[in-house]
Amino acid sequence: MAGLRGRRCAVKQFTTHAVLNRLRLYSSNTLQHKSVLMKAEASATSGNGEGTTKRCHCRLCFVPAYLVPRTSTYHGRSVGRSSSYMCNLCGVVLCCEPLKQGGKSCHDLWHERRDLAALASTSRKHLLHHRENEDEDAKRRKENAKKARLVRSTNS
Ligand SMILES: [Zn+2]
Ligand SMILES: [Zn+2]
Repeated sequence: MAGLRGRRCAVKQFTTHAVLNRLRLYSSNTLQHKSVLMKAEASATSGNGEGTTKRCHCRLCFVPAYLVPRTSTYHGRSVGRSSSYMCNLCGVVLCCEPLKQGGKSCHDLWHERRDLAALASTSRKHLLHHRENEDEDAKRRKENAKKARLVRSTNS
């Protein structure tokens, strides 16, 4: 189990290492945490030489399968949002778009909340709820579309 979590668990790293945790919350005029676009290593085969953008799961709101509750429709799967941005100082992949309009992005929250473990657990919960609600909406839309089709076919 420990091996599985490995390096991927940035939250754990930043909560257990005091220096990393201080870095996360520290900023000054010269030292600023910025979202930078991740570039995959330019490969010889990619012609244009620019390298494509890399996408990874955000390390803050990512819900590994073992944390998805049994009651969830996502049980047995992991849930995560992909981001192409990482913090230039922390070196951690974080979403820069908030989950809800008007909310804060994982990047902002990561750098301002003292209790990272608590923040991670609420971020995971929010993402899971968000996904489940999205699924409900999609189901409803699908059903409505089906009904509409039925109406159309009985009319013709
Ligand atoms: Zn995130
Ligand atoms: Zn940072």
